[in-house]
Amino acid sequence: MALYQEQSLKLYNSMTGEKEVFTPINEGNVGMYVCGPTVYSNVHLGNCRTFISFDLVFRYLKHLGYKVRYVRNITDAGHLENDADSGEDRIAKKARLEQIEPMEVVQKYTVDFHNILEKFNNLPPSIEPTATGHIVEQIEIIKTIIENGYAYEANGSVYFDVLKFNKDHQYGKLSGRAIEDMIANTRELTAQSDKRNPQDFALWKKAEPQHIMRWPSPWSDGFPGWHLECTVMSTKYLGEEFDIHGGGMDLKFPHHECEIAQGEAASGKSPVNYWLHANMLTLNGKKMAKSTGNFILPEQIFTGENDVLAKAFSPNVVRFFILQAHYRSILDFSSEALLGSEKGFNRLMDAYYSIDELPESEKTGFDLDQWIQSCYDAMNDDFNSPILIARLFDAVKNINTIREEKLGITSADKQKLKESMKAFMFDILGLKDETSEGNNDGEKLAGTIELLIKLRAEARSNKNFALSDQIRDQLLELGIQLKDGKDGTSFSLK
Ligand SMILES: [Zn+2]
Repeated sequence: MALYQEQSLKLYNSMTGEKEVFTPINEGNVGMYVCGPTVYSNVHLGNCRTFISFDLVFRYLKHLGYKVRYVRNITDAGHLENDADSGEDRIAKKARLEQIEPMEVVQKYTVDFHNILEKFNNLPPSIEPTATGHIVEQIEIIKTIIENGYAYEANGSVYFDVLKFNKDHQYGKLSGRAIEDMIANTRELTAQSDKRNPQDFALWKKAEPQHIMRWPSPWSDGFPGWHLECTVMSTKYLGEEFDIHGGGMDLKFPHHECEIAQGEAASGKSPVNYWLHANMLTLNGKKMAKSTGNFILPEQIFTGENDVLAKAFSPNVVRFFILQAHYRSILDFSSEALLGSEKGFNRLMDAYYSIDELPESEKTGFDLDQWIQSCYDAMNDDFNSPILIARLFDAVKNINTIREEKLGITSADKQKLKESMKAFMFDILGLKDETSEGNNDGEKLAGTIELLIKLRAEARSNKNFALSDQIRDQLLELGIQLKDGKDGTSFSLK
């Protein structure tokens, strides 16, 4: 029996505003789509929080035994500065400012995005499609939406007719907005606009002469609207109806609302069964965002080169800090909070690594199975990682009491406790086991340097100073400094 048959996972569906039992369309299989980054700048920590949140979801679904197809796109065209279909394309603008090709911008920041997420130990998605790789499909779906009567062409651009759509469907159901309010709150169209109504959004935009990123279409040489790529890429790889769609809270409107409208207008079916939205990360009490300059880059945290933090923190500690908050709560970033997380993280790891050395007894003095189930209960309750972490600290308390020989554990339960903690800490929360095989480069380096220190000491005792100096100088060239003291030689990495 698969684990998902024993555990009842509930998730909070933004569409209904309720926690619902998760039932995938095809038993044993899950299709999940998450809106990826627009690759025009370095990914900041606020973005990383969203992707770590969905990595937790991906990991837990896999742990439960589901076969998961996780699609996360790369937006490499079509995302304008202003979400209301105006302004410059973000990537084209960066290319113009840096005087490089748009695809160089895309390559540079896609590599950065992957590097950073790998440091945070995020698993790669199953498919990572790009908008520019799906222009043909975007043109095809626009044709279908026009044929179905929900879009119109004007001066080479194509717009989605929101009011017409709203007559047969409901526009605004995800974000809880009524079309009447939207109409009341929007300004009049400017004279240059080709839209029939301000609520309408672009499916295809005719490119101005200076616009570099352009493709031929039946309507004009132009480029697709930003919302369209997600509709096309999610349904292409997951079907017209699929299980989970995730993204940051700020994408609910208009982006996800438009995705629903496009999907329904094209196929007549509502594309998504469960909408999941991750909350934001704040810095100084304000949303972390590129546009306002209120953000911190992950590299600045790992190196400590920033004005916000007292010291550097490892990606593992930052991931732990992020998971100490539920993905739907706002999390505030601060030096004090990270220091607290680091302490907790070290305490958790120390306890885990001490399990093998624990004294054994005839009987286990606590209910291990119940503790394991309590960990699952936390995750089954809409991926409640802070509660899971609290349960892990319950285990830390038990481990420390066993260490003091005030609580018993059998040899078999010791093994079981270790296996369960390993599953929850490393497989599900995605923390990195820094001592695991292939991950101990630091230890290997330290061992190699210790060996060279020993050989240098031997050379000196044989009065072979040329060799001992050579070892010291060449290590220094590599950035490894030896220091001779009373208690022997130590080293530091520069
Ligand atoms: Zn999207």
